[in-house]
Amino acid sequence: MTDALPSSADLLILNASIIDGTGAPRFNGALAVTLDKISGVFDEKQPDFNLVVDQLSHYSKVVYDAQGQILSPGFIDAHTHDDRLLLSHPQMTPKVSQGVTTVVAGNCGISLAPMGKKLQESVTPPLNLLDESGEWFRFQNFASYVQALREHPPSINCALLLGHTTLRVAHVHDLSFPATPSEVSLMQERVVEALEAGAIGLSTGLFYEPAFGASSQEVIEVARPLAKYKGLYCTHMRDEGDGILEGLDESFLIAKEVNVPLIISHLKVVGMNNYGKSSTALSHIKARQKHQEICFDCYPYPASSTILSMDRAVTASRVIVTWSKTMPQMAGQDLSQIAAKLRLSIQETIDQLHPAGAIYFRMDEGDVQNILSHPDVMIGSDGLPHDEFPHPRLWGTFTKVLGHYSRDLGLFPLESAIRKMTSSTAKNFRLEGRGELRVGHFADLTLFDPVIVNAQSSYESPLVPSCGILAVWVNGVMVFEGGVATHKPAGRVLTH
Ligand SMILES: [Zn+2]
Repeated sequence: MTDALPSSADLLILNASIIDGTGAPRFNGALAVTLDKISGVFDEKQPDFNLVVDQLSHYSKVVYDAQGQILSPGFIDAHTHDDRLLLSHPQMTPKVSQGVTTVVAGNCGISLAPMGKKLQESVTPPLNLLDESGEWFRFQNFASYVQALREHPPSINCALLLGHTTLRVAHVHDLSFPATPSEVSLMQERVVEALEAGAIGLSTGLFYEPAFGASSQEVIEVARPLAKYKGLYCTHMRDEGDGILEGLDESFLIAKEVNVPLIISHLKVVGMNNYGKSSTALSHIKARQKHQEICFDCYPYPASSTILSMDRAVTASRVIVTWSKTMPQMAGQDLSQIAAKLRLSIQETIDQLHPAGAIYFRMDEGDVQNILSHPDVMIGSDGLPHDEFPHPRLWGTFTKVLGHYSRDLGLFPLESAIRKMTSSTAKNFRLEGRGELRVGHFADLTLFDPVIVNAQSSYESPLVPSCGILAVWVNGVMVFEGGVATHKPAGRVLTH
């Protein structure tokens, strides 16, 4: 635990119950930060603990009393759509208020950059989940987006994926078909540009209309440059319902052909007739893990959220509208109630509301718990920050795992919960120097009260911040304390 003693520190956190992120049991102790890195981790059981920490107290600029609360690595949100939020709301309140210090953006095939053509007129769904107006699709290349983030740093770190759907919308003439060879090579050039600019991988959303026409071979060719840059392949699979095993097989094939690690986004089994199939999906992954590197993330809710459409609505037991461009006053209401009010069929109601987003109850809670309990799972919110009435996962994912699933249901120990949101994620996404409390690592830290930590956001009131997160530091800078985001530009773009 103890390493060479620093003679002074910028920050010394005393009286902490330290959970280091590796899954190891907690211990009482202290942690020192010098500049942006952890310079000491001290266990009170060491014989020289009092002497060391007393001395250091005298030579530290800030001494912070943790009062026995849990100090852990800052949480890493494995799956976000925060591409625009990082610039439009740099204090990142929905994230820091849950203890998140790093987000992976650009998921599900949709990234803000590079667009390369104006989207002012109408934004192709699901790209409109990032910005319905089209104004934010202003980055002609990936490097200019990265540059904007470096010139106006948000409070937290980000790691960026390039979206295959973004590339298709920009370069493919007929989205219902696979790209032509010349379109593939244009997209491939964009992938190289993005990886050179700092993207950590490519994401796909083959489930969504603008990408559904892409063949596996198209994706393989577009993703081909990844291996050279140690990039990752992250996918919202073509099928998460009846054809989930085929969806998994296609994902395995693509990553294997390109020879890169595979990250399966928001692993779940959807559709009421597929309830209970999570074990089948997990064993299918496990069998394949002998042959290639595969990991997956999950959000802790039995409802999904994306754009509003009939084919999704028919597989759900309940649908809540999260935003509508034509009828914004309907956000937060059940689709069936809106249909009754308007005296229209469900299909006609959807047509009236379009473009719009929705929450779909179409997963089994038992499956959610089964996937969440898996030792290899990472936690990702999949929050949609620009929805009028968002899915509660945006504000509550991490605290719900800590409070509801770990403490209240006892699904797994707190040490395991934290591992799923720190060291596992850092390792799988190759985020070096993050995700563990150890000397030399960056000082991304979260302090929370394990007795009260929990999500407060709900389907009825989705914008309520979590409780129990006491303080958050990013690269040694405090970005959240006492329920308030400090709006310090402490975040960095993390590259490979
Ligand atoms: Zn997705």
